[in-house]
Amino acid sequence: PKTIAGEYKTSSERSFIMIKPDGTSRQIVGDVIKRFEQRGYKLVAIKSLVPSQELAKEHYIDLASRPFYPALVKYITCGTPVIAMVWEGKDIIRQGRRMVGATNPLEADPGSIRGQYCISVGRNIIHASDAFDSATKEIGLWFDPKELADYEPIAAPMITAEN
Ligand code: UDP
Ligand code: MG
Repeated sequence: PKTIAGEYKTSSERSFIMIKPDGTSRQIVGDVIKRFEQRGYKLVAIKSLVPSQELAKEHYIDLASRPFYPALVKYITCGTPVIAMVWEGKDIIRQGRRMVGATNPLEADPGSIRGQYCISVGRNIIHASDAFDSATKEIGLWFDPKELADYEPIAAPMITAEN
């Protein structure tokens, strides 16, 4: 069945990836996009916006009982835009998490995005969906279905062939 996160759960699927305000402010947007593009993933949607309180709260609703939740919402809605994106490709949800690195940047692999660009858990520059269900929820929260592009990059067969 076709779902908003993509047709397959483990092969070609979609993930919500967001550069947070500190990432935008620090001007690493191009670098982050470049990493996903060069890995072989397809950019399906992208927009720059300052999220409303309502949107930020809903995005992080599972963390509502945590002590850092108010500060987290304040950080995401601080006025510097976030870059909201949907990336698609084989195993993007799991691989996106690996590329982003551990939540605490000090535990993130040095080759990961967080491991390369930040040192504080409260300013860890990027978000990536952590599972199929959260990817589906987040894509639906941040994007209208008609904002999601349906196209085939010219190099796709060179990236996806299994043999
Ligand atoms: N966060 C924080 N303090 C903490 C844990 C998390 O400020 O002790 C923030 C941090 O920005 C993190 C976000 O809350 O990225 C969401 O937390 P989660 O555990 O879902 O981490 P993520 O999925 O972003 O790696
Ligand atoms: Mg999370």
